[in-house]
Amino acid sequence: MSSDEVLQAFPVPVLVVGCDQRVTGQNDGATNIFGVDLVGRHVATAIRQPSLLEAIETVLTGDAHADARLVISKHGRDMLYDVHLAELVSDHSVLLTFLDVSPHEEAGQMRSDFVANVSHELRTPLTALSGFIETLRGPARDDPDARARFLDIMEEEASRMNRLVTELLSLSRVEDLERVRPTDLVELDQVISLVINALSPSARDRDVDFRFFFETDQPTIVVGESDQLTQVFTNLIENAIKYGRKGGTVRITMNALPQVSAFKGPGLEVAVQDDGDGIDPKHLGRLTERFYRVDNHRSRELGGTGLGLAIVKHIVNRHRGRLRIESAPGAGSCFTVSLPMPETA
Ligand code: ADP
Repeated sequence: MSSDEVLQAFPVPVLVVGCDQRVTGQNDGATNIFGVDLVGRHVATAIRQPSLLEAIETVLTGDAHADARLVISKHGRDMLYDVHLAELVSDHSVLLTFLDVSPHEEAGQMRSDFVANVSHELRTPLTALSGFIETLRGPARDDPDARARFLDIMEEEASRMNRLVTELLSLSRVEDLERVRPTDLVELDQVISLVINALSPSARDRDVDFRFFFETDQPTIVVGESDQLTQVFTNLIENAIKYGRKGGTVRITMNALPQVSAFKGPGLEVAVQDDGDGIDPKHLGRLTERFYRVDNHRSRELGGTGLGLAIVKHIVNRHRGRLRIESAPGAGSCFTVSLPMPETA
């Protein structure tokens, strides 16, 4: 058994540094981190982080072990490693093992960004509510007109908070279920008809006309969860009404495709198209991020929470489907969902 064999058997990157501070061994994992074979080189020429070099020094000069961190930029990303150093008593060298903690750190960062976003989203309506309570107690106390107006705004702000909390719960449920494949058979044309009926009053309010193009004579059955698919098309059609042209048209087209390359089988494709202002291409890749909005003010004014498309994305993923967004300024927007059909349908 050679020492190289032992190093290669480690499931994590490892490096051995001799008492003259030259690298005496490294496995493929470590070559991946540093990009080169360091054997024979002085460790300071490869590792420039003073804290890690100090840790090597302390073990070489007598400590049995030490811990340090290493940050390395790779393909424009910072990779973060917890490095454990242990003395190899037989020849007084140091064994360094590297544990990649970048995913862990990123998850922590995402969690704290999310909490910061939620707090900010909740604070805005709360601040408005507190302000109006003050005004109603003070200057507007004996002004019935102002009171009625402020109460309307307060109701609006309270329902915004309510919507936000409902959507946050919905997002968390959807995320929990993302790895559990749905098993029911759902008739998609029925789901869409129900959504259109439910959204007709909002469409009427904005004078929007629905057109439904049903371009298949096959049964429109997918494997899915009816409530979640209802939510997908509610969010997409609601957005088309909100961000589409006032007095415009929302086209909903359903197509059955014998072969969808994304999932190598038959699929149903539903496109929701509006004739609104459209979206600048630079935003398209980020629209499904939580709380991402093209125009914060407009979204809030229309009662948006910034979570609708994030929910759509998670549900579509759970159904092994695809979401495609096409839009250009002045040319309206088209959101297309493709869902796999059972092969026997
Ligand atoms: P919101 O609650 O803000 O509507 P969504 O997640 O549903 O949140 O959408 C995110 C953002 O994407 C919206 O704020 C809006 O800027 C943009 N958007 C969504 N649908 C459309 C559309 N049909 N036309 C133009 N912009 C849209």
